Amino acid sequence: MMNFPILDTKVYGHPLVYLDNAATTQKPQQVIDALTGYYLTLNSNIHRGAHYLAAQATERYEEVRRKVQLFVNARNNKEIVFTRGTTESINLVASSFGRGFLKECDEVIVSGMEHHSNIVPWQLACEQVGARLKVIPFNDEGVLDMKVYESLFSQRTRLVACCHVSNTLGTVNPVKEIVRIAHDHQVPVLIDGAQAVAHMPVDVQEIGCDFYCFSGHKMYAPMGVGVMYGREEWLDKLPPYQGGGEMIKDVTFERTTYNELPFRFEAGTPSVGDVLGLGAAIDFMQQEGIENIARHEEELLNYATEKLSAIPGLRIFGTAPHKAGVISFLLGNAHPYDVGTLLDKLGIAVRTGHHCTQPVMDRYGIPGTVRASFACYTTTDDIDALVNAINRIAPIIC
Ligand code: PMP
Repeated sequence: MMNFPILDTKVYGHPLVYLDNAATTQKPQQVIDALTGYYLTLNSNIHRGAHYLAAQATERYEEVRRKVQLFVNARNNKEIVFTRGTTESINLVASSFGRGFLKECDEVIVSGMEHHSNIVPWQLACEQVGARLKVIPFNDEGVLDMKVYESLFSQRTRLVACCHVSNTLGTVNPVKEIVRIAHDHQVPVLIDGAQAVAHMPVDVQEIGCDFYCFSGHKMYAPMGVGVMYGREEWLDKLPPYQGGGEMIKDVTFERTTYNELPFRFEAGTPSVGDVLGLGAAIDFMQQEGIENIARHEEELLNYATEKLSAIPGLRIFGTAPHKAGVISFLLGNAHPYDVGTLLDKLGIAVRTGHHCTQPVMDRYGIPGTVRASFACYTTTDDIDALVNAINRIAPIIC
């Protein structure tokens, strides 16, 4: 049953129209119940305790790891590492991979439409050793140039990092093809799946990627939990990320040996309640049917694109043939922030600015956009409310 209590909120006397799902999705009752249920009945630290609550919490935490494994079709549950979110997942890989496998003059390929969290960690890793980034360009529609991509490979290419879905343009990238080309050059690939997992079925074996990162809070789960999927062969080779409890086997002042996978990459006390919330979110999506969610959002995207395109002076950024439910736009010469503020006064929640993708803004020579993004609970009424509100504010600010 779809029940998102927060969606009943009134904003300045208007019903809330929540169109900021790419930033974070709202949480269904089941997820809120899982989170509060954990603190009401299960709270204790996992893995180490000799007592009932610790054993129960550990069992439930490890159950979610298996659930995530099946959700993204990983080969085994050792390949699922819990993190705080996509940002931490990418930092984990960039930091460990950087220390283990990047040397001076090496190259990392990223796409031009990456979120800052799939650019800056690679810059940091490159800076440490004197390696550098190469960038896959995209065209005006927001489609990656695959010819240029192929031409970027050299003897020094060590990794490719690319988003599955762009959080600004909505482009669904051809990740299988991106991986195939990289693997032809024996180069591993990290896919940033932050904007994909809640919106389409994801199968890491089918994609063939070596790492796949995502955040719980963008898929109906609580904030504070995310996932780094890593192919076992790679996780076995990567040096540890953070040091601390749980990731060790034996510690002396002379030498430390490390725990087995996946615990080697989970130092310290994890956010157990949030992980259980993630499990409930996966149950929720599976009950709704991820294919049904994808179909629903595609219909919304088509509906919204048609309605918004008909508004005089409105320009959409990101018109790739294969898109997810994200629409970035500008209204005449109005500043995106002004549009967002006026929409808010009418109860409509959108995001404005560069969406942590400044290079995308530079590519189009704009300061930012207004972004409306959809989720399973978005309706055509929500889109109508957005369109009506834009028509209302356009004469005031254009
Ligand atoms: N990558 C993409 C494509 C995103 O949209 C986001 C969040 N906007 C992130 C990474 C970072 O996710 P988080 O803040 O949850 O770590």
